[in-house]
Amino acid sequence: MAQPQPFPTDLTHYNSDGVVTVIPPDHTAVPIQQFLASLNRRWRNAKNTGLVQQIPWFPDFINGAPTHYTLQSMRSGNAIVLKVFGHPSGRYFRSIDTFLIHVVSIMVGNGFANCNCGLF
Ligand SMILES: [Zn+2]
Repeated sequence: MAQPQPFPTDLTHYNSDGVVTVIPPDHTAVPIQQFLASLNRRWRNAKNTGLVQQIPWFPDFINGAPTHYTLQSMRSGNAIVLKVFGHPSGRYFRSIDTFLIHVVSIMVGNGFANCNCGLF
């Protein structure tokens, strides 16, 4: 099946539930273009999860993340661990896939208490 034409989608235009979060000093902010590239890559791989069916177009995430959400990296032994901070619970996302669930919730206006990302 042909890939649908991606539609530029700016997550900064949605009503974010993100909050300013204190980032531990051993973390490093991942540049936004890299964060968005990860979101787009994971979206392409999420075809059969029931997630993408909630959005009636194929987004190409551009410009920025929902307000106050940041992707951070930290070194743990030989591994690089990625975390997304900004959730109102104060907890962080351990994977882009879980964060995508929350992104869809923001896009459809579910409210974080009704979101299936598992952080609240
Ligand atoms: Zn959520």
